[in-house]
Amino acid sequence: MHFNTQLLHGKAVKKYAEGATLPPISQVSAFQYDSAEEQDRVFHHKAAGFAYSRVANPTVASFEQRINEMEGGNAAVACSSGMFAITLSLLNMLCAGDEIIAGGGLYGGSIDLFEDLTKFGITTRYAKHMTAEEIEPLFSDRTRVVYGEIISNPSLEVMDVRAVSELAHAHGVPLIVDSTTATPFLVNPIALGADVVVHSTTKYINGSGNSIGGVIIDSAKFDWDFDRFRALDGYRKFANLAYTIRLRTDIWENMGGCMAPMTAFLNVVGLETLGLRMERICDNAAKLASALSKIPGITVNHPTLPGCPGYEMAQKELDGRGGGVLTFRVGSRERAFSVINRLKYAVRATSLGDTRTLVIHPYSTLYIRSTEEQRGTAGVYDDLIRVSVGIEDAEDLIGDFTEAITHAEDQ
Ligand SMILES: *Cc1c(COP(=O)(O)O)cnc(C)c1O
Repeated sequence: MHFNTQLLHGKAVKKYAEGATLPPISQVSAFQYDSAEEQDRVFHHKAAGFAYSRVANPTVASFEQRINEMEGGNAAVACSSGMFAITLSLLNMLCAGDEIIAGGGLYGGSIDLFEDLTKFGITTRYAKHMTAEEIEPLFSDRTRVVYGEIISNPSLEVMDVRAVSELAHAHGVPLIVDSTTATPFLVNPIALGADVVVHSTTKYINGSGNSIGGVIIDSAKFDWDFDRFRALDGYRKFANLAYTIRLRTDIWENMGGCMAPMTAFLNVVGLETLGLRMERICDNAAKLASALSKIPGITVNHPTLPGCPGYEMAQKELDGRGGGVLTFRVGSRERAFSVINRLKYAVRATSLGDTRTLVIHPYSTLYIRSTEEQRGTAGVYDDLIRVSVGIEDAEDLIGDFTEAITHAEDQ
C-alpha cells in the first residue's frame, strides 16, 4: 500500500458502529457497565473497555491507532497540545538531575519549556546545530535523552536522524524527534532510528487549523537500562514497552492532558487528506521559495534551495522535498512589517500547517521570551519573515509576495 491508500485503508482504519465510515464522536466523560465485576476488570486493565475519557476514549483511540500506523510506531498517546506531548515525552523518562541534549534551532515554546524544566532539576545542553559532530562533546554521565526537530522551525535545518540516533544509542540514551514540520508524508523518523516521535497535531495533521492537539509515538525499540533511567524503574518487567506503559497508565493519565474526542475526530478527518495537502503544500513552498530567491535584496531559506542549510539532508532524507515552511530576510524590521502588511492572500496569524498561507514576524511574536543568544541560535532575526505555505494556487502566492516585497517601504 502506498501512503495515500494507507491513510484510507490501513490496518487502523475500521468499520465503525452502524457501518459508519468515520469513528463516532464519543463526546462523553464516563462509560457505564452492567456489573461491578465488569467495571473492576476494566479498571484493572484486565478487560478491554473504556472507563473515563481522561484515561481512554474510543474516538481518541481511533486517532491514536491511525497516526501510530502511519509513523510505524508501537503505540501512540494523544495529548491536549503539541507542547504537552513534548513535556510528557520527556517527563515520562527523566528525573531531577538528568540532562537533555537539544539542537539550537528549536520551536520557541520548546526552548521556554526546557527553561521551565530547570526548576525541576532537569537541564538542557544546546548544540548550535543538531548534528552528530556538534552534540558529541555535550554528552555527560547525566545525559538521558537527545531531543531535536527533524526540520527545525524556523531555522529549517534537516536533522540526519540516522547519524544522531546512532550516536545517542552509542551513549545509551534515546532520541526523541519532533516531526511536526515533516509529518509521516515526508519521513518516518522511527524507520531511521528515532525512538520516540512527537507531533503538534495542531499543524499539518489536523490541517485546517481547527483544534489544538499533540501526540507521542513510541517505537518500543529502545533497550532501557533501568538502573540509569530511574523514572522507569517500576516498569522493568515490561522491558521495551516500559516507556509506553508508564506513559499510558501513569504520567499521562495523572497529569490529565488528554485529547478531546472532538479534536481526535477532526484529526482523523484531517489525516485522511494529509498526503494530498502535503504534496500541494511542498510543491507550492518550493515554487514560492524559488521565485522569491530571484528578487534582489532578500535572502530566502527553504530546504529545496541549493546553498540553504537544509538542502543536502533534504535531498537524502526527504526525497528532495523541503516541507511547507520558508523564511526570508528583507533587511530591516520596518521593511519586514511593511511586506507583511501589504500581503493580500497570506493571512497574518501564528501557527503553521493550515490550508491557507500564514505569515508572521517571529522575532516580535514567538520569541519574545527568548534571549538574544537563543534567537541567534534559532535563526530568528529582526528582519526575518516566516511563511507557512498553504494550498492556494502557486501563481497567486508568488504574485502576492512579489508585489508586497517590491512595494515595501523601509519605514
Ligand atoms: C506548534 C509547534 C509545537 C507546539 O504545538 P502546540 O500544538 O501549539 O502546543 C511544537 N513543535 C513544533 C515544531 C511546532 O511547530
